[in-house]
Amino acid sequence: MKTIILAGGGHAHLTILEKLSESPVPDTKWILISSDVYQYYSGMFSGFIEGLYTLEEIRIDLRKLAFKANCEFYEASVEKVDADNKTLIAGHNHLSFDLLSFDIGSHTANPEIKGLAEYQTALKPAHLFPQFIQTLQDSKNVAIIGGGAAACEIALSLAAWKKEQHRKCDRISLVHSGELLEAHGPKARRLITERLNRSHIARYPNERAALIKKETIYTNNHTEIPFKQLIYLGGANAPEIFRKSGLTVNEDGFLSVNTMLQSIDAPFIFGAGDCASLTAYPDLEKNGVHAVRQGPILWHNLLAALNRQPLKDYHPQNASLAILSTGSKKGLWLHGNKAFYGTMVWHIKNNIDRRFIRRFKT
Ligand SMILES: Cc1cc2nc3c(=O)[nH]c(=O)nc-3n(C[C@H](O)[C@H](O)[C@H](O)COP(=O)(O)OP(=O)(O)OC[C@H]3O[C@@H](n4cnc5c(N)ncnc54)[C@H](O)[C@@H]3O)c2cc1C
Repeated sequence: MKTIILAGGGHAHLTILEKLSESPVPDTKWILISSDVYQYYSGMFSGFIEGLYTLEEIRIDLRKLAFKANCEFYEASVEKVDADNKTLIAGHNHLSFDLLSFDIGSHTANPEIKGLAEYQTALKPAHLFPQFIQTLQDSKNVAIIGGGAAACEIALSLAAWKKEQHRKCDRISLVHSGELLEAHGPKARRLITERLNRSHIARYPNERAALIKKETIYTNNHTEIPFKQLIYLGGANAPEIFRKSGLTVNEDGFLSVNTMLQSIDAPFIFGAGDCASLTAYPDLEKNGVHAVRQGPILWHNLLAALNRQPLKDYHPQNASLAILSTGSKKGLWLHGNKAFYGTMVWHIKNNIDRRFIRRFKT
């Protein structure tokens, strides 16, 4: 009997569980270890903040999904891997494996900003998300560091919620060192700037947060930005486990994998989603789209590795579609340099997101 451990209930592993319940694999023991019973779907975070979805509508019950797939479930965080002995530690559990797959996501952290860890409200790892939302909604002054899709989306959703609740005096600020939606061209920037202005979100462009003290951000330009609650959405940070376990990582600490999603020095360890970095595509954006698309390849490759069959490659598409919820059931469609804004866009996003969640509801 071979043992395959899935570490983390991320997007790619959801597909593995789905496939496993459709096509059981004989003589193989599957174990899912995840930090929380629920996997929270980040595509719907903004809608949840705005009050458009309930908690139940944005999360997937991993225990039930694993049960359906005849997979053991441990609610624990994987802390360390011993690749030489093919064992790992997760809470009180010391487990052996033949194959191990990581899909544990990333963290909203940045060790270069002093004081951030102490003062930020962390939205990732994903299971941390729901407990802080009410604090953000109730706060009179929320500052968000970041100018990408997630930062803009969260700022706009929070603004929409506050408008609906007539909290006119509350303040939301966006602090960003680079261009807004940097990956997407001038039209996207114009549209998102309009949305942020209309929502009265205070912007601090060209400001790089350097130091956080109680209720103040200090930037490289010596600007002081006050806040009551702080969110960092300026980029994904690697989980510590890979460095701690001596596995090969990229310069930012993400697990280095080849196009077959195998760790480059331990082929029996796989990695997908945010936590892994494809050596062939070092600049690949960290988003849920890639994590989802890697799922079927990962499934094929785990079975192929088990049966000593040829593995498949994951080659990402050049530009993936991103749809931002911009508040009040409107959305911004981004594909490469193309950008559209409107109600229809939000409805398309809503349909895609609800369909995704439905796939994994048991
Ligand atoms: C606010 C926000 C909004 C976003 N919106 C979008 C969007 O609309 N579209 C999009 O494509 N991307 C979006 N993203 C990016 C997206 O969230 C990530 O790229 C995506 O979640 C990555 O998926 P994943 O499968 O790698 O990991 P995750 O979805 O983060 O899942 C990882 C899982 O592993 C578990 N876990 C973590 N550590 C451990 C451990 N040590 N041991 C065991 N389990 C562990 C976690 O609890 C979680 O269940 C957003 C990000 C943020 C922060």
